[in-house]
Amino acid sequence: MGERGAEALQVGGLTPLTTTDYPGQLAAVVFCQGCPWRCGYCHNPHLIPRECDGEGWQAIESFLLRRQGLLDAVVFSGGEPTLQSGLLDACLAARDMGFKVGLHTAGPYPERLDKLLPVLDWVGMDIKAPFSSYDRITQVPGSAARARESLSLLLESGVEHEIRTTLHAGLLSHAQVLELAHELAGAGVRNFVLQAFRPQGCIQPLLSQGDGGDFAWDLLHAEIHPLFQRFSIRRA
Ligand code: SF4
Repeated sequence: MGERGAEALQVGGLTPLTTTDYPGQLAAVVFCQGCPWRCGYCHNPHLIPRECDGEGWQAIESFLLRRQGLLDAVVFSGGEPTLQSGLLDACLAARDMGFKVGLHTAGPYPERLDKLLPVLDWVGMDIKAPFSSYDRITQVPGSAARARESLSLLLESGVEHEIRTTLHAGLLSHAQVLELAHELAGAGVRNFVLQAFRPQGCIQPLLSQGDGGDFAWDLLHAEIHPLFQRFSIRRA
């Protein structure tokens, strides 16, 4: 089973220990190479190309075997992990080693996410904007329909989730953030996080030079908080 597919996984990096990428769990993060979208605020632009010279899955697997009993979980992040067909086998291999499996995704491949959900314990999904404004962020036509389908699949699956949106004042207005929050609450999202844009890694000068954090954060919190079971704003 799993091994052969997982060996094809293009891995761009590894964080051996984190407490923030899978809430409440001690986790390692495997950064998968490649992403089909082109968000201007991406802080991992080196992970966007499909090919890399990073360590392969075998090295990751050896590392994970040495961490059995010490880590709770493995998170597949990116880039966009669902770009790669070997991801399912890598998730199964991590699960066979006794780890919980988390996924960070923006949902561009709903058909692949559908197959992954039964082996996932937690998903952090990036939703970029109200669906009517999506392509302006991803710079790829048709991205809204794919993200919307992935969100539906995630919510239907019952897998624990966190939906998060990165805010840059040059890309989304206060009114659009409110529109998005109402769309998500209407879709059945229970846990929503707004993340302030971070200039680290961003290669678009127009975005990193402006004040991307120019929002009425207290007002946003007061307006959005009642819509969700859990809501928070990350501004670190
Ligand atoms: S979807 Fe994520 S990884 Fe891909 S370009 Fe956008 S921010 Fe970067």
